[in-house]
Amino acid sequence: MTAERDEARRAPAETPAILVVDDEPGIIRMLQVTLQRRGFGVLTATSGREALEVVGREPVDLVLLDIMMPGLDGLEVTRALKARSGGERIPVIILTAKDTVRDKVAGLEVGADDYMTKPFNGEELVARIRVQLRLAAMDRAMRRQNRELASRNAVAVAVGRSLNVGEILGATLEQMAEVEGVGAGGILVWEPERGVLALAVERGLPAPLRAAWHEQPLGSSPWATVFREPGAGLLEELAAAPDPALRAAGGEAYGNHACVALTAKGRTLGLMHLLSRPAQRFGAEDMRFFAAIGQQVGMALENAHLYHHTEQQVSQMRALYEVSSSITSTLDLQEVLRALIERLLDLLKVDRCVVTLSDVTGTAGEVVMGYDGSKPMPWIHGIQITLDRHPEVRRALETKKALVIPEALQEPLLGAVRTLLVPLQIRSMLVIPLLTKDKALGVIALSSLREARHFTPGDVEFCQILANQAAIAIENSRLFAETKRLASTDELTGLFNHRQFYLLLGQEVRRALRYGRQLSLILLDIDYFKAYNDRHGHLAGDEALRQIARVLKTKSRDVDMVARYGGEEFTIILPETELSQAAVQAERLRVAVETHRFGLAAEGYLTVSLGAATLLEGMDRPEQLVHRADQALYEAKAGGRNRVCLAPARAEAPEAS
Ligand code: GH3
Ligand code: MG
Ligand code: MG
Repeated sequence: MTAERDEARRAPAETPAILVVDDEPGIIRMLQVTLQRRGFGVLTATSGREALEVVGREPVDLVLLDIMMPGLDGLEVTRALKARSGGERIPVIILTAKDTVRDKVAGLEVGADDYMTKPFNGEELVARIRVQLRLAAMDRAMRRQNRELASRNAVAVAVGRSLNVGEILGATLEQMAEVEGVGAGGILVWEPERGVLALAVERGLPAPLRAAWHEQPLGSSPWATVFREPGAGLLEELAAAPDPALRAAGGEAYGNHACVALTAKGRTLGLMHLLSRPAQRFGAEDMRFFAAIGQQVGMALENAHLYHHTEQQVSQMRALYEVSSSITSTLDLQEVLRALIERLLDLLKVDRCVVTLSDVTGTAGEVVMGYDGSKPMPWIHGIQITLDRHPEVRRALETKKALVIPEALQEPLLGAVRTLLVPLQIRSMLVIPLLTKDKALGVIALSSLREARHFTPGDVEFCQILANQAAIAIENSRLFAETKRLASTDELTGLFNHRQFYLLLGQEVRRALRYGRQLSLILLDIDYFKAYNDRHGHLAGDEALRQIARVLKTKSRDVDMVARYGGEEFTIILPETELSQAAVQAERLRVAVETHRFGLAAEGYLTVSLGAATLLEGMDRPEQLVHRADQALYEAKAGGRNRVCLAPARAEAPEAS
């Protein structure tokens, strides 16, 4: 594109430069006068060698050439001019006294564009020169069009090969670097959420320019007009550019600078900047070409965005589906949370995800699950947090709205707890409330560590949908757990109920039999409880039952299972316990109840009778053990109450059944 560069450098109306080559100064002078009078610029050379030097040094639009010269003759100069590589085609008109047909053929054969003989007619010469200049201009235009078509084609092929924004931009710059005259370039991409133009790719940009363009708000940028009026484009001399970084890049290394918008459907997605090589300048033609490329690349970007948007929607839908189905397929809270967190980490690419459920008081919460990257952090499970120290959790719970914190250390809301945040290295946070119809159960806190993370409105919306799903599941699983608890618990005392007692005893008997372990059972009945009820009333009786339950529970080992068998009867399963130990335990319980004050002054006493039995060889049903303990209890009652009786440690005669 050297010719176009040169054209651009000169004003369009500038005079064509004719190089007159002749060894006779008289002829040179005459031609000079003739041509200058017709408005041509004239350069001169008196030898073939000098002619080639001038052409190498200065823009020449046409060469008027004598044949007979000392040194290099005209034919040799023509050959050399036509063999020049890389430059534009310069028309050559031979002007000579050699007028035989053979001479003319020889001249045209080495590549001259026209041939005139001396003496010549000035009018004719000028007319022929004009023809040649017109042909050369047409030739240039055609060549330029061909080059542009080839470039546009190459860009189209390169950008069409990918749906990845980075690849598209990279390929674009690579193709632009192939365009003659382009010295360096970069593409800035518009990031609407952040309101900045960010340098996405660059090729050969000087370091200060790279730094200055890294990210800049649109408002103050000199290319705001290009951005807002796509197609406008901007062409300026680097030396005179208002942008200081650009101005600094000018001079030795680069010439002028072109900026065009990358547009699609009337929207500007980014800007392409190109710097011309030092001795060259982009012109109006170049700008038209760059603008066309800008549209082409804009469309490719738009397609890529559409594709990613669709892809993202598909993966979000899939995540929603997966979470929904894992939610409906399980009532296990842990499983629900795991599914939720894994989806969130996967789709949002955050570093950490912690789920906290708030307690009934609304002033504290419990961490129920946390992941660091893809790894669970079981050690934080069960940690109690107070909302005073977690204002972000409080805010999300109170407003029932998602909270985005772009920079944790600059967030006023977190001002009071900044010192707690620093060691955690948290940069950006997204806190999503877990909402059911009427309340916030807790929050999901997503955070990126060390690097800031921009959460888009799309991210937030998606997380909230997922969180709403999860909240329903959390509520369901809590209800389920509560129902399960109720099904196994005696309401009055909080102990295991009759049903659960038999379930547990069944398990323990099987375990003891399988591993040959000891297993004992205590059955306990309150003495004269009917009388207690009669004297103090049924409510006081209930309270006494609750208190005895508490006494039994606190005096039992953790492994022992205390149940309300029914009415005023209780039972305790003692795993890994032989009869003598069970007897000791039963006696402890008896004393504990006997010495317990039931809050009714002098009359507040109750005693219990206990029967203990141990699992014997040959027994394989839980009922058998209960039966033996019951027999012992009966004995204790019969023997005067407030005492412990033991079933024999050996089976007597086989029971008749
Ligand atoms: P003993 O066992 O020493 O032979 O005499 P008792 O009076 O405890 O005997 P009985 O088994 O005849 O009476 C049990 C009483 O326990 C009957 C009932 O009023 C009382 N009782 C059973 N369940 C409850 C309960 O849930 N609440 C209250 N307040 N009383 C209960
Ligand atoms: Mg009873
Ligand atoms: Mg009783």
